[in-house]
Amino acid sequence: MAAPLRHRPLLLAVVLLISGLPRPAHPFTELESDQIARFQEYLRIRTAHPSPDYAGAAAFLLPYAASLGLHTTTLHFTPCKTKPLLLLTWPGTDPSLPSVLLNSHMDSVPAEPELWSHPPFAAHRDPATGRIYARGAQDDKCLPVQYLEAIRGLRAAGFAPARTVHISLVPDEETGGVDGFEKFARSEEFRALNVGFMLDEGQASPTDAFRVFYADRLVWRLIVKAAGAPGHGSRMFDGAAVGNLMDCVETVAGFREAQFGKVKAGEKGPGEVVSVNPVYMKAGIPSPTGFVMNIQPSEAEVGFDLRLPPTEDIEQIKRRVKEEWAPAHKNLTYELMQKGPVMDVAGRPIFTATNESNPWWSVFEQAITSAGGKLSKPEILSSTTDSRFVRQLGIPALGFSPMTNTPILLHDNNEFLEDKVFLRGIKVYEHVIRALSSFQG
Ligand SMILES: [Zn+2]
Repeated sequence: MAAPLRHRPLLLAVVLLISGLPRPAHPFTELESDQIARFQEYLRIRTAHPSPDYAGAAAFLLPYAASLGLHTTTLHFTPCKTKPLLLLTWPGTDPSLPSVLLNSHMDSVPAEPELWSHPPFAAHRDPATGRIYARGAQDDKCLPVQYLEAIRGLRAAGFAPARTVHISLVPDEETGGVDGFEKFARSEEFRALNVGFMLDEGQASPTDAFRVFYADRLVWRLIVKAAGAPGHGSRMFDGAAVGNLMDCVETVAGFREAQFGKVKAGEKGPGEVVSVNPVYMKAGIPSPTGFVMNIQPSEAEVGFDLRLPPTEDIEQIKRRVKEEWAPAHKNLTYELMQKGPVMDVAGRPIFTATNESNPWWSVFEQAITSAGGKLSKPEILSSTTDSRFVRQLGIPALGFSPMTNTPILLHDNNEFLEDKVFLRGIKVYEHVIRALSSFQG
């Protein structure tokens, strides 16, 4: 029913209030609207674990790349061939130069729809804020669309790369990359690409400076087991297993506090310290109602997740574990599992230099400046990405996702990317791809 005429201005004011500040009706060009639509289309393909639709992603990405004149190849590193790895190639004019590789993983972590304000696979765009809500909006399904649209822009401008530009779209990054980049990096196909430099995913930046990552931390697992004399629950004695384990936990907690303190004080970034967190503890004698309460058990165990910056003195940490955290004289034994290598193929710590010793760094940094952007201090990522497999081969690789003034929402509920931020990223990649693929050094 229509409101009486005299109430209409009031009604309009109420509508404006609840819908937020209205944006102009047509803020984007036709090309930009198409680019946003392509991003939404990719986001709607359910590539989240535990059953990522890689076939759907390939059916979207391969014809998309082919329509831009790129060569496409599909590789498989599993016998079942359900985990394709797509390679999109823009041949350079000088094939003798090492190529530039732009990487992105096709999979994403799961989402719990009931905890989201918009369905996580609908890629809903809020017209008031321009936010596109979807699992993968930041991590990292924006990237291939931005790479491809940047190439569209460069081709339209008549640009021809000197170096060949490859885009790799890989499966299973979120589950460790075993059937994805890890096997790819060891393959003959990868060697044949003759990669000189790789760009991979980074993270959103809440400020107006882009973030860039030059290393991933090393991932270790530490299990400490304590043994001790069993005894009645009422008796106080030295050397009980749980007591020995508590000593270990307290010592580790002290180290953890010192490391965390540096992050809290702003002295170091979260990726620049050693993190150690207890992830499980096991002790006690089970009973039908829970645990036996009047026996001190003879065994106890704790597991720690341990992450180290590649620049850390590894031997010193190992000594610390042996002598301070799990000393044998306290009936403690331990198992230290290193996941992945500590050194690259040339025996160097695994990180990419961000100074004049690495010419790619200068080219990248200048490209960001030419795009009107700025970089914050290069960081070590506190978790891991596929970049580690490439850096391990001694090939420089940086983690970079062009998202400024954006909250960090990877793996979070209500993950979103604003349309304007997404579009600016395309322009940034035009500068970056132009510069990297023209580099003659
Ligand atoms: Zn990611």
